[in-house]
Amino acid sequence: MNTLASGPLLKIDRLSKRFPVRGGVLRRVVGKVNAVDDVSFEINRGETLGLVGESGCGKSTVGKTILKLHEPSGGAICLDGKDISQYSPRQMRGVRRKLQIVFQDPYSSLNPRMTAADIVGEPLAIHGLAHRRDQRQRVAEMFERVGLRPDQMDRFPHEFSGGQRQRISIARALAVDPEIIIADESVSALDVSIQASVINLLIRLQQQTGVSFLFISHDMSVIEHISHRVAVMYLGRIVEIAERSKVFAHPLHPYTEALLSAVPVPDPATRRKKRILLSGDVPSPIKPPPGCHFHTRCPIAEARCRIDVPALREIAPGHMAACHLR
Ligand code: SF4
Repeated sequence: MNTLASGPLLKIDRLSKRFPVRGGVLRRVVGKVNAVDDVSFEINRGETLGLVGESGCGKSTVGKTILKLHEPSGGAICLDGKDISQYSPRQMRGVRRKLQIVFQDPYSSLNPRMTAADIVGEPLAIHGLAHRRDQRQRVAEMFERVGLRPDQMDRFPHEFSGGQRQRISIARALAVDPEIIIADESVSALDVSIQASVINLLIRLQQQTGVSFLFISHDMSVIEHISHRVAVMYLGRIVEIAERSKVFAHPLHPYTEALLSAVPVPDPATRRKKRILLSGDVPSPIKPPPGCHFHTRCPIAEARCRIDVPALREIAPGHMAACHLR
């Protein structure tokens, strides 16, 4: 169980990530993509923040930049009160254990030549957390904790189903007793029934260990099920952030309203509101629309939306949104 301390566990402050765009025969830099643009949020101990948005909105880049798999272009990443955004790879080795990731694809994220026991035990060896003889015992515990049988430990990834492989990924992330796990579309490749069992596993593990999650998904139903708070992203920016119940019961941003109106419900009579169809695709992040990035698809856009960038501000207590008209 992680110790309780004051202040957020993770505080992201005005984080940005720009990638160069290259073109021509000489592959010169001809522009840049603001994949993450001035993003701020906090995650408390034992909390799950759901980060939701359409494909290409920058949500996975947020996760990879926090892990420093991408170097941030600006802003701060404070873990336990320490800004790690400028840490060298050597310094990062000291904090890697605290920050773990579970990727989307359970078929390609596990080394096919390693046994499940070696996959789960590898981070224990890397971080020097268990002697060789204790490692097997710890791996067996992890297997049981994620709902796998220890007698399956010596099998290879191809001998497991998709859901079981994702449980191996979760066991690997959990083995080093992390403070936060970044789950990047971790259930998206699974069948719906398997998704539910993996999500319930994550919730149970959080209750047992106090681990925090940054849960990244394009799927509002999944986000609703697992998150304590929700941040909605559009073209590199956060457009709404609040407790889950506030976002789902009273969305403030027109983009969130549209995402929610598209969530299938078992009984159409209980559908939240009339379906809002967004016209067009998400614009290219290489050339995002000026002003409010959402204005090209927003059903209530006004002239000033094409010019002025709306600030993310508190519109109701604890409920932030970036829209001129709210
Ligand atoms: Fe729509 Fe304008 Fe609000 Fe952007 S600022 S969401 S375009 S109304």
